[in-house]
Amino acid sequence: MADATIIDGKAFAAGLRARVAEGVTALKASHGVTPGLAVVLVGEDPASQVYVRSKERALVELGMNSFDHHEPADMGEADLLALIDRLNADPAVHGILVQLPLPRHIDTQKVLARIVPEKDADGFHVVNAGLLATGSPGAIVPCTPLGSLLLIRDTLGRDLKGKRALVLGRSNIVGKPMAQLLLQADCTVTIAHSRTADLPGECRRADILVAAVGRPEMVRGDWIKPGATVIDVGINRVPAAEPGKTRLVGDVAFDEAVKVAGAITPVPGGVGPMTIACLMLNTLAAACRAAGAPVPA
Ligand code: NDP
Repeated sequence: MADATIIDGKAFAAGLRARVAEGVTALKASHGVTPGLAVVLVGEDPASQVYVRSKERALVELGMNSFDHHEPADMGEADLLALIDRLNADPAVHGILVQLPLPRHIDTQKVLARIVPEKDADGFHVVNAGLLATGSPGAIVPCTPLGSLLLIRDTLGRDLKGKRALVLGRSNIVGKPMAQLLLQADCTVTIAHSRTADLPGECRRADILVAAVGRPEMVRGDWIKPGATVIDVGINRVPAAEPGKTRLVGDVAFDEAVKVAGAITPVPGGVGPMTIACLMLNTLAAACRAAGAPVPA
């Protein structure tokens, strides 16, 4: 059997970003509105700083406003909530992103719940989760699952009905919304997690396998149905062959899986670039809704 098609998330994300940039230009021209995202970072977690910088860079590249709030690690919860209140009330801010994880002394759920749902660019608010779960219009969908769905559709076509999908992981930010999206697309969806009996057997039944567990190369080649579409959400840093160096791997053993799957996302260069592109899309959509302009499909 030939090796799987490698799904080029980087190239797809570049195309999506170009479409978002066009949407930004059109919104400025038609309504005089520049989409703006407030990016809130509390503390100095190095990985978070990298993520935040790439988000801020993308905003500027696409012609949007980036309102950067880099706060000290000892910022109090009340002060953070007051900042969210100010951003909620600011008409130039169409989306608010609070980079996670927050320092331990801050209640993450309380902070996320304080963002008005219309500005919840990450789609983590319970109102948006509820809109997605009920298939209601206007839900802001979390960026990583949204990006994953776009890659699946680009690979398999828009019609996914009847396909067996297995989502490995049940977090609120990836696994659960991913399962909701696939269900809405008329897939037959199974959600697997750390208590699932016979994980390899569950995976082997899937036409579409989305792995979001955070365990390096846990999904082996012989867990995959021949010809399946494999979306590897995992980002895990592991020691490289060269002493003192590290490298990124996914949740899927790529070298094995590529020999069995029909199509597979690499790590890096698969789902990762889609996450930021979808954040840009969510910000543009929020700005369009606020301005009463048509929301890009
Ligand atoms: P969480 O840690 O919140 O969730 C992990 C899920 O995997 C849980 O549901 C857990 O099950 C399940 N799990 C853990 N170990 C096992 C196991 N041995 N067998 C079966 N299931 C298991 O992670 P996230 O959802 O936040 O992220 C998942 C991965 O995706 C991470 O590698 C993360 O870095 C990556 N990620 C990548 C993004 C991107 O842009 N590409 C964005 C967001 C995340 P249980 O609920 O039973 O504990």
